Amino acid sequence: MEIYIIGASFAGISCALHARKLYPNAKITIIEKNTMVGFLPGGLLLYLQNKFEKLSDAVFVTEKQLEAQSINVKLSEVLLDCHPEKHEITTNKGNYHYDKLILASGSEQKSMNIGLEDDDEWDPSFKNYDLSNKILDQIQNAESIAIIGAGQAGIEAASTFVDLKKTVHLIEAMDYPLFKYFDPDFLVPFLSTLKQQPNLYFYLNTTVTEVAKDKQYEILLDGQTVVSDYVITTVNVHPQLAAFTKKFQLHSDNTIQVNDYLETSAKDVFAVGDLIHSPFQIRDESVYLPQINHATRSGVIAAENLLKQEVKFTGGLRTIGTKAFGWYLASTGLIEEEAFVYKNEIAVKNFTQPFSLTDKTTIYCKVVYEKSSERLLGMQLLSKADCLEKINTAALAIENNMTLDELMQNDHFFQAEFTNVMEPLNRINLESEDRHAF
Ligand SMILES: Cc1cc2nc3c(=O)[nH]c(=O)nc-3n(C[C@H](O)[C@H](O)[C@H](O)COP(=O)(O)OP(=O)(O)OC[C@H]3O[C@@H](n4cnc5c(N)ncnc54)[C@H](O)[C@@H]3O)c2cc1C
Repeated sequence: MEIYIIGASFAGISCALHARKLYPNAKITIIEKNTMVGFLPGGLLLYLQNKFEKLSDAVFVTEKQLEAQSINVKLSEVLLDCHPEKHEITTNKGNYHYDKLILASGSEQKSMNIGLEDDDEWDPSFKNYDLSNKILDQIQNAESIAIIGAGQAGIEAASTFVDLKKTVHLIEAMDYPLFKYFDPDFLVPFLSTLKQQPNLYFYLNTTVTEVAKDKQYEILLDGQTVVSDYVITTVNVHPQLAAFTKKFQLHSDNTIQVNDYLETSAKDVFAVGDLIHSPFQIRDESVYLPQINHATRSGVIAAENLLKQEVKFTGGLRTIGTKAFGWYLASTGLIEEEAFVYKNEIAVKNFTQPFSLTDKTTIYCKVVYEKSSERLLGMQLLSKADCLEKINTAALAIENNMTLDELMQNDHFFQAEFTNVMEPLNRINLESEDRHAF
């Protein structure tokens, strides 16, 4: 069997590795337009934080590791067209016949028409190695940087640049940052830290109309101009728009339509990762979930289904965990702000507890649940202690339709340095204040 995979990132590589295990005799080839495989999308920031010695070390897999698994990697090669009727693809280097084709060409951020598109020195995004390498010197030398978009990537970038003593202008169209994952009331302690940063200037409810470059970059906002040494965009990602995608049925946002088994409208062609919509496990609809864990799992499930429909892809819950400005932030599932998208009435609970018996750092918790059944639908966590891992337990509870009473009985470890007497999920339904003494 001849398997071709387009895109050597999380979805494509996880698919290739799992396919290698399932089909030992298959010939597996990955086609990647960049010059290296497996670069971490936040690799530039991690390098600037001295977490890696070289920028090129910020990878989750290497070409060598793939080749050791007999996975053939073709770098600097771009898929130009697909011919599903002939089981053929065309790249800038030739035509290939496939038995199974997996489209894993992911997403990009270059969606803004802000006037600098023809400037060769400027690249707004740093998602892949080539882009990160291209802008590295400019980022390092910049004393001031404007960031357009205060989602997870924008907030992480702002935190990194502020730590590096740069002046940061953070511009966001919504009225608070991280709006996809958190309710505004829940973020109050975090927002108050942001306000105290002397080098951070926040522009909320603000859209960028144009960016011009003279000696510095001039960012025109509604009614004011911000001047900075560099500008990056960390706005929403979108599927890579390429001519070949038109060969498949698409959603209105240009994601490729797939069935439960990740098959596209063309026989023997699958699509995975940031190219597709997936079921959002607590809403009866599919949504765009551009996240690494989602991409990786979808790659694995596509590999499972290459020969016949074996395993349905179950989608995700938009689970995130991050650290910025000294705070650990995590979220999964539904937030109160999007209650209108849920079919039934919801309720929420806010509570706090110390991280452990020896570390009294507060963990702020908010849960969203279905009012009638008390089924858990979402959880948000915020703390200066590392509580991130707890969000994965909450995600598992939501996936398993657990109610607050059932969670009260959920088994967790206790160790005085690392836990409280009861874990946040155990205690949601313990109403009485005196039982909340710990
Ligand atoms: C700055 C930033 C930070 C992020 N941090 C996180 C995070 O911490 N956690 C998280 O969960 N998510 C994060 N994300 C989102 C995450 O990057 C994506 O969800 C994930 O990379 C999707 O993986 P993928 O394999 O589907 O696609 P991608 O990672 O987009 O990879 C697609 C690959 O296909 C290649 N390609 C595209 N078109 C072609 C073509 N025509 N021919 C050949 N090759 C092609 C591309 O070069 C690329 O290597 C971040 C995103 C950004 C922009």
